[in-house]
Amino acid sequence: MPLTPTRKIWMDREFVDWDAATVHVLTPTLHYGWGVYEGIRAYATSRGPAVFRLGDHVDRLFRSAAVYLMNLDVTPEEIAAAVKATVAVNELDSCYVRPLVYLAAGEIGLNPLPSPARAMVAAWRWGRYLGEEASERGCRAVISGWQHIGPNSIPPTAKGTGQYVNSSLAKASACKAGYDEAILLNPQGNVVQGTGENIFAVSDGALITPPVHEGLLAGITRDTVMTLARDLGYEVRERPMVRTDLYYAAEAFFTGTAAEVVPIVEVDDRPVGAGTPGPITAELRELYGDVVRGRVDRYKHWNDYLDD
Ligand code: PMP
Repeated sequence: MPLTPTRKIWMDREFVDWDAATVHVLTPTLHYGWGVYEGIRAYATSRGPAVFRLGDHVDRLFRSAAVYLMNLDVTPEEIAAAVKATVAVNELDSCYVRPLVYLAAGEIGLNPLPSPARAMVAAWRWGRYLGEEASERGCRAVISGWQHIGPNSIPPTAKGTGQYVNSSLAKASACKAGYDEAILLNPQGNVVQGTGENIFAVSDGALITPPVHEGLLAGITRDTVMTLARDLGYEVRERPMVRTDLYYAAEAFFTGTAAEVVPIVEVDDRPVGAGTPGPITAELRELYGDVVRGRVDRYKHWNDYLDD
């Protein structure tokens, strides 16, 4: 996806011009992948831009940083304020926001502990992560030959920069083979998630999704969609899933901040259900779109307005 520059990026408590937001080539994170980040979206609402579930994203950033033993000298409150300020200073109404914690240059080697952690926040306009067509008409997914990282190799519940090599290997193979997205299996052979999304199947009118202990990122969109579905009266079951659960499903979809709610219409060249986006997926997708835009009173506590 092309990256369209905005004006300013927040680095070490100040705004710098987009082109000046650089790090040294010997920054350890570039060499060894030791960093943590978040992906957040802000949406245009009738009251101006609102960041969706900002507190939950900042909490996850600090939990990821704790897993990676990164001690930040900025507080969660400062990062939350920086996210809002970055949206405001760039005059964005609806955008993607990327806070990242990385190791600053000065030390080199595989021991990350002596390197100081630094934080940055950038924001840019970003359309549909999986593309307009795949998002609207549904995407074609394939089970990846790349095994998902397990809890004793690289902790999948943290959002560490280096662990995305696993996702990108799977994504690249899927794209080269002509699919929109890959689905990864864990070392036990169970379905875990997409490369940057959680996954759901719909069977007998109920939602099924793998439990966090299968080795997935506890997605904030996953949690949002589970809440919306339960509030609509659907049963939501968290249970281990195998690939044939997707083959037999009536519907399937991905969830993620960047991707939002995206129907899966094909897995491994087999149509899911009718091979078109299913009605429960469409209902959740539409409701999600309204909730993030602050149109549903019941969920307004998730909309964090810039002047809140
Ligand atoms: N799984 C992975 C591997 C991801 O990168 C993401 C995106 N952060 C998700 C799931 C979805 O998480 P969220 O809904 O919090 O964006």
